[in-house]
Amino acid sequence: MHCQKECRLSRPLERPVRCRSHSVEVHCAGIILKEGFFYRMSNKSIRGKIVNLQDYSVHDGYGIRTLVFMKGCPLGCPWCQNPESIKTAMEIKYSQHLCIECFKCREVCDQGAILEDRDKRIDLDRCNYCMRCVKTCPSGALSQVGATIAVEEIVKKLLSYKPFYDSSEKGGITLSGGEPTFQPEFALELLKECKEHGIHTAMETCGYTNFETLKWLVQFLDLLLYDLKHMDGRLHKEATGVSNELILENLKKLSAIPQIECVIRIPLIPGFNDDEENVRQTAEFVEGLNIKKLDLLPFNELPSGKYRTLGIDWVYKQVKRQDEMKLLQLKEIVEGCGLEATIGGLW
Ligand code: SF4
Ligand code: SF4
Repeated sequence: MHCQKECRLSRPLERPVRCRSHSVEVHCAGIILKEGFFYRMSNKSIRGKIVNLQDYSVHDGYGIRTLVFMKGCPLGCPWCQNPESIKTAMEIKYSQHLCIECFKCREVCDQGAILEDRDKRIDLDRCNYCMRCVKTCPSGALSQVGATIAVEEIVKKLLSYKPFYDSSEKGGITLSGGEPTFQPEFALELLKECKEHGIHTAMETCGYTNFETLKWLVQFLDLLLYDLKHMDGRLHKEATGVSNELILENLKKLSAIPQIECVIRIPLIPGFNDDEENVRQTAEFVEGLNIKKLDLLPFNELPSGKYRTLGIDWVYKQVKRQDEMKLLQLKEIVEGCGLEATIGGLW
């Protein structure tokens, strides 16, 4: 049984229940939209797929924050800084330095996917991710990337850090990824619970989702970090696999909602979008929407190791971070368009 035709979340309940807040019949476990109003059930036990929780972050929002790296993204950016969060499915990480070459992994693999090569232990084309080798590996050289976790488990942990968030100005939680809007029910429930417990909430998004999802989520957000990768639609599509049309359109609509604090972020990718023209065009577009802040995020070389452990040959492995002179020039361009700018998002 499904709820009203407007329902965006196909998670029907076995029997409809009555929403305590609104005295309406609810047919799904998430949210329904009826006659222009949102009705929702509290569902703290809802589980989401995450890569990890990272505490004491200071770059993705105000103060001290816990980052929730969620799994799954609709874009396929080849420079991705968090390759372990692109796929929704669980993955396997191989840490070569921990391998004692016992080959217990090979004994349990019925796909013939274990390789002799010390640099690369798993043939990903053969692997079906049954995780038997991970469970068998005695040294921890093989480990599972990703886990499911309930909203209430995360909130319990966050509450133990609340004194730290509160001691730093507007510290709290930031949903990142991957793409948080890829798991809208989980993201919504988590943000809502955080707000109910007085925890400052932020979310980083690529903006590639339907506007209704963003509209739901921003109800429970104090800060929105919105990525713009390129103003040229063709180049955007070539690199990420999707056009920037929906992303720009969603940003226009969001900027018309007065209570949202929005900061734009450009992940600066050498040879793709870190030229003066693209940065200027982006800043002018943002200024036209009356958004005040823009973060320039320099290219980060560190993910090279992450790609290696996932068995992926990263096309950007030889690429270096922009030099300080270039970053300062780009910052000046953004400021010249009337925006506040940071290099690296540290406010
Ligand atoms: S089971 Fe673990 S330690 Fe043994 S060979 Fe396989 S990856 Fe290496
Ligand atoms: S996850 Fe399963 S199929 Fe893949 S390498 Fe390990 S045992 Fe083999």
